[in-house]
Amino acid sequence: MLELWRDFDESWILHEDDDLIAVDKPAGVPSQAADPGHDDDVVARLKRWLAARRGVTPDEVYLGVHQRLDRDTSGVMVFTLRRDANAALARQFAERTLAKSYVAAVSGLRELASERVLRDHLARGRDGRMQVVERPTGGAREAITRVRVRARNADRALLDLGCDTGRTHQLRVQLAHAGAPVAGDRLYGGADAVRLLLHAAQLRLQHPGDGRQLELCAALPLEIEHWLANGPIDAASDPALLRRALSLAVQARYRLGRLQHEDAPTSAFRLFHGTGDGAPDLAVDVYGEFLVAQLGGDMPDERQHDVLDALEALGPAGVYLKRHARQKNELGDARDSAWAPASAARGSSAEEEIVIHEYGVPFGVRLGAGLRTGLFLDQRENRQRIRRLASGKRVLNLFAYTGGFSLAALAGGAADATCVDASAAALAWARRNVARIGATDRHRTWHADAFDALAQLGRRGERFDLIVVDPPSYASTRNRRFVALKHYQALCEAALRVLARDGSVLACINHHGARQSKLRRDVMRAVQAGGRSVALLKDMPAQLDFPAAIGSEPESKSVLLTCD
Ligand code: SAH
Repeated sequence: MLELWRDFDESWILHEDDDLIAVDKPAGVPSQAADPGHDDDVVARLKRWLAARRGVTPDEVYLGVHQRLDRDTSGVMVFTLRRDANAALARQFAERTLAKSYVAAVSGLRELASERVLRDHLARGRDGRMQVVERPTGGAREAITRVRVRARNADRALLDLGCDTGRTHQLRVQLAHAGAPVAGDRLYGGADAVRLLLHAAQLRLQHPGDGRQLELCAALPLEIEHWLANGPIDAASDPALLRRALSLAVQARYRLGRLQHEDAPTSAFRLFHGTGDGAPDLAVDVYGEFLVAQLGGDMPDERQHDVLDALEALGPAGVYLKRHARQKNELGDARDSAWAPASAARGSSAEEEIVIHEYGVPFGVRLGAGLRTGLFLDQRENRQRIRRLASGKRVLNLFAYTGGFSLAALAGGAADATCVDASAAALAWARRNVARIGATDRHRTWHADAFDALAQLGRRGERFDLIVVDPPSYASTRNRRFVALKHYQALCEAALRVLARDGSVLACINHHGARQSKLRRDVMRAVQAGGRSVALLKDMPAQLDFPAAIGSEPESKSVLLTCD
């Protein structure tokens, strides 16, 4: 197993004595558990780590929590280690007698004077985001932020910030309102950056035990300095930046990484996703102990070596390499071993086919057989949705490839599942996958063009309760050229003709040119054309491990439609 997701790293500790412990919280780690049942927050993680160090259970570790930081903000957090230390610290937080300062990297700040106090009223808007309100009503709260420019570079600046109030997203909202959003701020219009560039740099307090002044400082993260210097946005351009971007990506996926240890484990997911993680030409996937790196085809050799070195340093059994041509000719490239070497580029190679798991369901994947591994990781959560919906249902899986959705449906108790695909090799793979879970008697494969298969099913009067429509962007078979952007509605119309009453369709498209709104529209039009009525049409959320670039939609989009 890839052991990247330890609870805690000793290097995060800034200060520790009998009363207090202060840590430099990494960006991406929540300071409080977002929902019950997930113990991925810094408090739970620190508790587990302290417990292991002391040889006790986590419940026996006392940690007094006085502070919160946004998940994507890095920097100082202080906790009490003894109950008696609480009152003295709580008082300082409540009365704001301790000095907290933040550093933010912002853009657009040409006019702002070098020192300024921002006073606004904030309220939660209808879209859930906080906003500055010009005419404060009942719900609005005053926010006061002191701003000092620490360094400038053209329209970029680093600001030292002090807060006299502590409202939700206060700094981010007030700076955005002042025309200088924090870089990397996805909610409030920040410029492109590898993360939210907001850092809790310093906390000065009176020690609750002996009353002495204690100054806790968390060093400025590399990416903040780099951004100010207007360095290249591509983290793969520099080994130190790349290591940093990888470590941010690892923290952002802690919850997924821990799923390897569950009783029903998940051992494959995306570790690093292109622009969304700070390097446009790099994607990295975890498959059990192995990593698979996908690089832009024109990345220079030397840089490729740096990337592979950085990945090897993460400790996998081996690292596979796939290079993607700029001009995609999928099938041709997929066979070319120069683009996808059969053995690992670093470390040792895996067996020809290895088994990974998604929520306990086994899938066979081949890491050295072309550009694809046999599993599209961006559909993991959709597979899980299908699994939950499938009990007792008749399932049709169009463009089934290696049968991922059918496998999920069968694992979820589907009455039967039919895989339709134009590739015999993919269907043989699907049968191997299904055999592994002992569900062959509920599974059939059909080697056919999806449109032809739908037409035949329609003529025969076969109906399905659950249909998955997940075509490639482009495909040419012997007698058809399919272009998802053009033919999606027609495809849905054909699928709806074989949808049973109260049936559902999971409609997916993976194309940067297809927007979520277009997918919805194509699906709606197909429903109208077929004279059906919609009971439910729901956008499926994108996966945590496939973050979109700032200001863009995720590439992989899907909706779940249920018809009356
Ligand atoms: N839905 C799959 C991924 C689809 S990959 C999954 O969940 O893993 C695209 C698949 O579509 C390939 O397996 C390809 O063989 C198949 N394909 C392409 N054109 C087709 C067509 N016209 N009819 C049926 N299958 C097609």
